[in-house]
This record gives sequence, C-alpha cells and structure tokens, in this order.
Amino acid sequence: MRPLNKGNTPTDSTGNPISPTDYKSWRKALIDRIGAYCAYCNMPIKHALQVEHVVPKNPPAGYTVGDPLAWSNMLLACGPCNNAKGNTPVDSITFYLPEEHNTHLPFVIVPHATDAKHAIVTERPGLNVNQFPKAQRTIALTELNATDERPNIVDLRSRERKLAAITVNSTRNIYNLAAAINPILAAEHVVHVASRTGFFSLWYEEFMNEPLVMEKLTDNNIIKGTATNCFDPANGYKPIPRNPGNIADPI
Ligand SMILES: [Zn+2]
Repeated sequence: MRPLNKGNTPTDSTGNPISPTDYKSWRKALIDRIGAYCAYCNMPIKHALQVEHVVPKNPPAGYTVGDPLAWSNMLLACGPCNNAKGNTPVDSITFYLPEEHNTHLPFVIVPHATDAKHAIVTERPGLNVNQFPKAQRTIALTELNATDERPNIVDLRSRERKLAAITVNSTRNIYNLAAAINPILAAEHVVHVASRTGFFSLWYEEFMNEPLVMEKLTDNNIIKGTATNCFDPANGYKPIPRNPGNIADPI
C-alpha cells in the first residue's frame, strides 16, 4: 500500500481554505493531489472513484465520529474497499493508514495459493507481535485478501493485482535490457508504466535495488501524493519507517 501525503486543505483563489458543503466535491482536489487510485488497494480507477471518509461519519455508538466534510478526513477509494470498510471505527492505533504510516512496510502481495488468476495482500513475514495483528486487521478492514468468484462478480481487485504483477515482471525484463543502453530513459519508462498500472508496492519490491527507478517511483511530482518521507534518499530511496520514535512499532 503506497504511503500518502495529500497536503494541506486546498485553498480558493483568495487563499482561504475551501469548505465545501458536499464531501464529494473534494473529488477533483483529491485526484489532483494523490492521483486517481484507490488509497487502500492502489488500483487505478477510471470511473466511479469514491470520496471516502477515513474515520467514518456514521460509526457505531461510542466511537469517534469522523468529520463529514474536512479535507483531512478524505481519501479516494474503489467500491470494494469503501464498501468493505463501511462504518468500521478507524484509528491509527488499530490500523495502518496510508497517511499515518509507511503502509508499504507491513504488507506483501503474493499469488493466491490455489487460483492463478488472483494475487492477494498478506502480512509481511517478520512483523513483530505489535505489527502482525495490526497488519491483519488492516487487511480485513478493506478485504485486501479477498477474491470474488460469484456469478455477479463486482470485486476485480485480486484479478487486477495479478495482471499488475505480470506487467511488473515484463517491465522488469525490458528494463534490464534498456538500462544497459540508456538508464534514465529506461527508468522513466518503468515509472510511466507504473503510473498506469498502480498497485505500487509491486513496483517498490521489484525495483528496490534500482535507486534511479525508486527515486522516480517515489517522486510525488511524477506519481502524485506519495509520502516522500517514507523513502530514504541516502539509501537508494528504500522504504523507511514513518514513526521512528515509536519503539514498539515504528512503521
Ligand atoms: Zn481499493
């Protein structure tokens, strides 16, 4: 899951923070800041991209009510992620959140155990006793390990994730040839394909040891909204924890 930083509340032409009366009217500003991808599964969304309340505006009684209109509580989501998340109470202690954590670190994308059509998200091996249950809860929150084999299928995420993995492998093979001739052009091509394919963790994993590619993959002028503080320019733009002061779980 790509770590995000969507920035401060957008301002109007006079420099005042925009305060819409309909949360859906944040959609354009969100696309401009973080691109047209689901913030949770990172699938590119060409239509019906939903504006999503990170902390739900109608949680069960007794839980924190999310601000119904504030920019700070908005992200973009696909239908399956948003529907799965629903009114589940959300906070950054219980879940890994794309604007609070380096959400690349706790997860890994793997082939489905028995059905080659699908790739799913699972907990990254090596998480500690604080991190593992939090990763597990986050996967359950938006059902990032789900496959949909119903006749009236609506959830294409696992299939699209698998196709993205194939695209990453193919792009890597071409990159290996092209980089020997023109590394900059080769890296730019990878990032162009990545921006159209989404599922950014696949790209980070594959190109982890290619600093030129990682620099461009994590450049938020190229792929908007990536939290650049989650990648270390002094170490080839490899992912780094976002909360280093939290000893129990710096992710
Ligand atoms: Zn999604």
